[in-house]
Amino acid sequence: MPELPEVEYTARQLRTAIVGATIRDAQVFWERTIGHPDVSDFLAEIMERSVLGVRRRGKYLVLDLSGELILTIHRRMTGNLLLLPPGWEIDTSLRERDAAAWNTRGPAFYSADESDGVDPVELRYCRVCFNLLDGRTLLYTDPRKFGRIELWPREREREALAGMGVEPLGDEFTVEALARSLAGRKGAIKQVLLDQAVIAGLGNIYADEALYYACIHPLRPARSLSADEVRLLREGVVAALTLGIEHGGTSFSEYRDLWGEGGDNYNHVRVYQQNGKPCARCGMLIERIVVGQRGTHFCPACQKLTWE
Ligand SMILES: [Zn+2]
Repeated sequence: MPELPEVEYTARQLRTAIVGATIRDAQVFWERTIGHPDVSDFLAEIMERSVLGVRRRGKYLVLDLSGELILTIHRRMTGNLLLLPPGWEIDTSLRERDAAAWNTRGPAFYSADESDGVDPVELRYCRVCFNLLDGRTLLYTDPRKFGRIELWPREREREALAGMGVEPLGDEFTVEALARSLAGRKGAIKQVLLDQAVIAGLGNIYADEALYYACIHPLRPARSLSADEVRLLREGVVAALTLGIEHGGTSFSEYRDLWGEGGDNYNHVRVYQQNGKPCARCGMLIERIVVGQRGTHFCPACQKLTWE
């Protein structure tokens, strides 16, 4: 699942690649990917909009478009964005030939120019495509189809991005702010960290890494953290996310960047899916437990469940 670093990395790539470009029109191959407005209004409204900027809020990509509109993209489990150079054609003939296969795979893409380095395998499961006026195509691919794309008037941004907590890489993510969000919470710190209304964009990988950094057991009640631990945890969240962005995100399953490349951060994680391997600090073997239905990885020696 793309988390903050993967979304931030994509936002930076998109900013370089498509700010200033104009969306000629869009095609929707799986209607439920469009969450707002309905598909026919979406297609009519998106036509001939220029991309003025690209931002990230939590795990959302936000494209500022001309006409005072914003396009939000939440990739959920397996959504990806890919940018194709000019020259690629789209083949939707499967829709008529085999409706069931079409619903799974979506359209096919082909290019007369095989030297452009795009692997057609990455182009399966396309749900929406944006045809740019300059001939390039921005594809939204999503095998599991949980992701959502929405188009909103800018003045309704608050509604479009409702329920989001503090941005962990923003100035407002202070020790005091984190302490306030944890105070009074009986729940396990791991689960509280995954609550998007507390910290926007933090997910399973980076929550495990942050807790390891701060030497805090994932099952500790959030309210039991000392002031020192809260300070370390804030540092750990920022460090884990920053490192993730530097390495182009963590790819262990579906995540790809705008050019179809996987990120490198999986080679740099300390605990996430490292169960059975020695802890880099103390040598004890990393363990895996389930917290709130999510696989959770920690060092039983560095991250003790007892506290003062
Ligand atoms: Zn350890």
